Amino acid sequence: MELFDPLIGKVNNLVGSAAPVKYPYDPDRAWEDAGGNQLVMMRESAYELGGDNKPAVNYACVSSGDYVDRDEIWVYGRDLNRIKSSTPFARIVLVRVADLEGEGEEDTEPVFRAIQDIDFVKYHVYPKGYMIRASADSHREQVRVSKEAVHKGISFEQVGNLYIKEYKKDPNVLSVRVIFVTADDADYAEMKKDARMIRDITRTLSKIIEGMATDCRSCGLKEICDEVEGLRELHFGKQKKLK
Ligand code: SF4
Repeated sequence: MELFDPLIGKVNNLVGSAAPVKYPYDPDRAWEDAGGNQLVMMRESAYELGGDNKPAVNYACVSSGDYVDRDEIWVYGRDLNRIKSSTPFARIVLVRVADLEGEGEEDTEPVFRAIQDIDFVKYHVYPKGYMIRASADSHREQVRVSKEAVHKGISFEQVGNLYIKEYKKDPNVLSVRVIFVTADDADYAEMKKDARMIRDITRTLSKIIEGMATDCRSCGLKEICDEVEGLRELHFGKQKKLK
């Protein structure tokens, strides 16, 4: 599955000029999971990632290419223990999956399901004292971090380990890179555009599965299919299978 490869190729240019700090995945170093939604009140809050209308972007790219060869957490910018007030924030996830194309032919449904399963993870990770407010429409993922969590030494490495642990429950997932960005010189506006593009690709796949028309000239999704290599092949591969 290569639909998102051009977006994956761009990531390194968007995350700021400094080199990242990299941590190998270690499930024993995962931050505690609260097990469900939690409330961090304003008075208990140390700061917010993406607070005061600062950028707060989130997206995940799925690929069967070899962009991600091991499970890792990469941090660009200040870690959680060095942040004192609202700061711009992004969390980008690159996921390597098994090849989902069936018997030499592109198949839309497993691709779409894999993307959905991976996207679902973000609603099932509850790092204690790290209250996530995600908005699918605006691609925002704002996080309120509690004073207690900061006092206990919460770090992106630990939060990233918790995410990877959850991603790896999916049998399609081979390896994961969770990238946290708080760098001031990162291009959050471009990241937001890419998050929107990923949503558009996913919606197009969903329409294709619903069995929409096959005349590109009159199709409302032509613009996105013109832009993203591989979508047409997926659609017409599916039509061929149905015959
Ligand atoms: S391949 Fe053509 S018919 Fe199918 S979704 Fe894209 S533009 Fe529409």
